[in-house]
Parts: sequence; structure tokens; C-alpha cells
Amino acid sequence: MIVGVLALQGDFAEHINMLTACGVKAVAVRYAAELDGLDGLIIPGGESTAVDKLTDDGSAPIFSAIKEKITQQQLPVYGTCMGSIFLAKDIEGSRQGRLAVMDVKVKRNAFGPQRRSFETDLAIAALGEEPFPAVFIRAPLITECGLGVEILARLNEGIVMARQSNLLVTAFHPEITGDLRVHRYFLDMVEGHKRLC
Ligand code: GLN
Repeated sequence: MIVGVLALQGDFAEHINMLTACGVKAVAVRYAAELDGLDGLIIPGGESTAVDKLTDDGSAPIFSAIKEKITQQQLPVYGTCMGSIFLAKDIEGSRQGRLAVMDVKVKRNAFGPQRRSFETDLAIAALGEEPFPAVFIRAPLITECGLGVEILARLNEGIVMARQSNLLVTAFHPEITGDLRVHRYFLDMVEGHKRLC
């Protein structure tokens, strides 16, 4: 199994480390051709407006190549924080570029600025009984989602982990904890998809 991590900007190195710790071959992806042969892709945390600029407002080949892999080949993709914003169909109050493949509406910086970043123990039934140490850094919240979206975790009134078919998003950052469970959950999705192909 080979899983790519979009490495235009943000904390892609931490995701590569987590995948390696899970025993999976991980590669940094910057160009469209590097998507070929991948079994899954992670879009890391970072700054969504910067990624919008780096993908030339959606006109860069890497942008259309990711979108095509998702819509035509159902490539499993996991977006953390900025990655969840980049996958969303709707971003509250913003027209910034996004892949628009996941039927969710997100609110950026929903908890306030950087200094309001926090860590909390989150109940995620899909990962077992032990709470997950979830780190929120200028995190978004999912404020609305379509019928095809499975809600996997909530914090207060907002949705912070969700899945739509082969797409997974978290508003928090498992890659900077030592807990591999979210990455393993995603790798199970990748494995399932690989078996079908
Ligand atoms: N606030 C950032 C954005 O809007 C996301 C922050 C993150 O990925 N940690 O893109």
C-alpha cells in the first residue's frame, strides 16, 4: 500500500511519520503525476488560503488531478483541518478555492485565533472506548452536512470528524499526537477500496 501526502504547504511531514509508524509507504506529493499509483491521499493541516494560491485558484494541474481521482476513481482521501476545508463544498463567508467534493459546510477558525488552540479528550465511538487526544489549531467546524455524510465525532454543537464514502475529515490534528487510531481508521478505508479495485 502506498499513501501520498499533499506537500504543498502545512504539516505534511508529521503525516508521513504517522503513516510510516503504521507500516505504510508514504510519499510527499507536489505534482499531478505523483498521484498515479497511490492507494490513498492525505491533505494535511496548514492554511487553506495559501493552498488556494499555490494551486492557482484551482487552475494548477495538481488541483484538477486530485479532484478527478476523487470523483472518477473514488480515491480515498483524508483531510485534516485545512484539508477538511479544501475538500468541502461550502465554506462559510468565503469564495476561496476548494475541491468541493464533500457535501459539508465548514466554518473556518470556528474556535478563534491561534492562541485559542487547545487539546481535548474526544469520544469517537468508531475508534473504540478510549477517548482520542484531539488537538485543535485554528480549527474549523462542520456546521452542516448532507445525507450521505456520516458524523463520527462532535464537539459541543459542531461536527469535528465525518466521513462520506471514501472521504474522511477531521477538524483536529491526530498527526501531532502519538495516537495512530485515526490514521489506522483511514488505512482501513484505503485497504477496503484497494480490495474492490
Ligand atoms: N485556519 C486554517 C485555515 O483556515 C486551518 C488551520 C489548520 O489547518 N490547523 O485554513
